[in-house]
Amino acid sequence: MLPDQLLLRIPGPSPIPPSVQRAMSQPMIGHRGAETTALLQRIKPRLKPVFGTEQDVLLVTGSGTAGLEAAVANTAKPGDEVLVVVVGAFGDRFVKIAKAYQLHIHHLDVAWGEAAKPEDIKAVLQKHPEISSVFVTYCETSTGVLNPIKEIAEAVHEVSDALVIVDGVSCVAGVETEFDAWGIDILVTGTQKAFMLPGGMFFAVVSERAWQVIESNTQPRFYLDLTKYRDGIAKDSTPFTPALSILFGLEQVLTLLEEEGLEQVYARHRLMRDMTRAAFRALDIPLLVEDAYASPTVTAIKPVDFDAEQLRKQVKQEFNLAFAGGQQHMKGEIFRIGHMGYCSPADVLQVISAVEIGLMQIGKQIKLGAGTQAAQQIYLEQGANN
Ligand SMILES: *Cc1c(COP(=O)(O)O)cnc(C)c1O
Repeated sequence: MLPDQLLLRIPGPSPIPPSVQRAMSQPMIGHRGAETTALLQRIKPRLKPVFGTEQDVLLVTGSGTAGLEAAVANTAKPGDEVLVVVVGAFGDRFVKIAKAYQLHIHHLDVAWGEAAKPEDIKAVLQKHPEISSVFVTYCETSTGVLNPIKEIAEAVHEVSDALVIVDGVSCVAGVETEFDAWGIDILVTGTQKAFMLPGGMFFAVVSERAWQVIESNTQPRFYLDLTKYRDGIAKDSTPFTPALSILFGLEQVLTLLEEEGLEQVYARHRLMRDMTRAAFRALDIPLLVEDAYASPTVTAIKPVDFDAEQLRKQVKQEFNLAFAGGQQHMKGEIFRIGHMGYCSPADVLQVISAVEIGLMQIGKQIKLGAGTQAAQQIYLEQGANN
């Protein structure tokens, strides 16, 4: 294997396109100078379609989790009743943050591998009318479930005034996202997943309704005070030094998304999901998630007759191909393949055929090529010219 060729197929960080890498190597500029103002002015309108919003997208230096914390810190105060929908490890992270902020937490726990049901969320809200926010993950990265955010937001608004706060870290820019039309109140995403950038920044969008809650919330906050970022971006500025290199890269990412076309970007992700799933089905290896809720950005595989960790180790050693393992109680039970951002159907074909070799090498008997052939078939049926 080539020592410097890492095939990074984990659900984030994800590979960075060469043109984005080059854009990020631009010499530094002053963050209070005209160059930065002009850069933010150019980026601002081009980010909105990715989120499906007319609101300004806030740019904050900090990882995705800082974004989740900002959502909590800005909207809630100790004792507030909130509903956290937990379908995996990242729902659980929202619980931990809410705990740290001493909120009164109602859980809706869903079995790992399944999606949240809007009617179940509605039922909790009807039983507990004091709930002021509902926290939910869009793509649950630990399982590869894509929650039906549109239907969930609708259900919440039908029975409650609670804010709908969404963690979109592992899918926004890879799947359709309609912040305004779906009635989301706060949406957070990071840079290192479908956005094809290094980790280090998060994006947040806030609805008018949520701004009212934030403005009337007197809880202490400083760096993560979202009103600072709103007032900053309104003037093509940021309150503190932004991660300028990431912003250089972001401008190029937006160019790539526009050149391909967002609809096509989303179709490519769905195609990569379908190819991956068809391949494992053809190999008779179970998938964790059913078709209806399978995320276009990450797929979890749940082997029954071979060791997930052994396969991961094998393909890493043989091809420098990196998959992710399971998190928490799923450790050793599943492995996860990221197919987001700078990833194409051709990459999926490579991954599948390498997996087939890996499986043979660890002693799992398969019909060599069966998975690849199934993925090729899906490509020919739905993907030609993708
Ligand atoms: C990766 C991820 C996060 C955490 O992001 P960090 O940048 O590591 O803080 C949060 N939520 C989801 C759904 C993720 O996939």
